[in-house]
Amino acid sequence: MEHLELQAWVERISLAFFGRPFLHRATFNARLRSTGGRYFLRSHNIEISPRQLDMFGVDEVEKIIKHELCHYHLHLMNKGYRHRDSDFKRLLAEVGGSRFCQAAPGVRRVEPYRYKLVCASCGTEFMRKRSVNVHKYGCGKCRGKLVQTVLDSV
Ligand SMILES: [Zn+2]
Ligand SMILES: [Zn+2]
Repeated sequence: MEHLELQAWVERISLAFFGRPFLHRATFNARLRSTGGRYFLRSHNIEISPRQLDMFGVDEVEKIIKHELCHYHLHLMNKGYRHRDSDFKRLLAEVGGSRFCQAAPGVRRVEPYRYKLVCASCGTEFMRKRSVNVHKYGCGKCRGKLVQTVLDSV
């Protein structure tokens, strides 16, 4: 399947199940391994792993697209777009999206890193799944001050 077919597919699902147009870009990313898809908060684009299509077929990928479109539409409507939000859970159930950005078989499912910490003194980077209180904890190497940023995709 080509990128343009994926784009048209996502646009079709968006109109049919969400009643709203998908106005950004959907592309395949072969480097996506631990998740079937992801949504970028800044660009509003969606990426889908082509491996999912090979392994699970069209029906499963449609569920993953619905999952990513839940992030997309809720984010653009300023509603709860994260996995733990009730808006997200409700919409996902309504449209029949996959519960997780499903992992391909043989790939351990890992919770994605959501936070990056950079030491202001020595520049060491740390990835974390949960938010860290930077007023309480310093750099593990030099005790320097840490600066935390939230990563771009969900
Ligand atoms: Zn997700
Ligand atoms: Zn440091």
